[in-house]
Amino acid sequence: MLSLTNIRREYKLGETIHALDDLSLTIEKGEFVAIIGPSGCGKSTLLNILGLLDVPNSGEYTIEDKRVDDLSKKQRAQFRNGVFGFVFQSFNLLPRTTTYDNVMLPLKYRRGDHRDGKVREVIASVGLTDRLKSKPNQLSGGQQQRVAIARALVNDPKIILADEPTGNLDTKTGLEIMELFKKIHEAGTTIVMVTHNNELLTYATRVISMKDGRIVKDERKK
Ligand code: ADP
Repeated sequence: MLSLTNIRREYKLGETIHALDDLSLTIEKGEFVAIIGPSGCGKSTLLNILGLLDVPNSGEYTIEDKRVDDLSKKQRAQFRNGVFGFVFQSFNLLPRTTTYDNVMLPLKYRRGDHRDGKVREVIASVGLTDRLKSKPNQLSGGQQQRVAIARALVNDPKIILADEPTGNLDTKTGLEIMELFKKIHEAGTTIVMVTHNNELLTYATRVISMKDGRIVKDERKK
């Protein structure tokens, strides 16, 4: 489904930092991939490149056999919205904006009457129907992350990319969010999640360990 070949991402700050160092990786439909490794090893850089938020300096990237490393910015954005949903550690919701409107946001430019039904459906699927009109500062951290997950789901993404999605949550709330990801995965969505919490690895079907911009271990569970 996703295929990276010999990807390099460098930052030049006096000396050159190899955030991704000749990295190759294939992700199949239906996987639940956890990416782990020490701080600074390139996990977020990898997720950003997978999600077309960043482009490599060199290497080849294909999504469902289509080359995407040479797309224009506009084409990248279109592709991104059609394929990916994003969930971040810090939720990234619009403040002073209700649950309903935060989840509607990705559909803003899509015409048609089905939008309202879709927004309500995904909000129901994360258990927040009774908080439709709440703003982020009126919600707990776990509830805010549920809003963010609903927003990620509203476009029916093929792949959810999650960067430390439980990093700002207490253990119990974090596990509730993981149960939600489990449900989403079982419903057929591919998930790629960066984490440094080893307790969460039981949810993954595959664990990729990174170090210094490279993959040093890649384990699939039966
Ligand atoms: P991780 O997510 O594993 O903590 P990152 O992907 O954020 O690692 O970073 C990988 C390396 O690239 C680190 O050395 C980091 O300092 C560097 N890096 C990341 N983003 C930038 C940037 N915008 N400018 C310069 N260096 C960066």
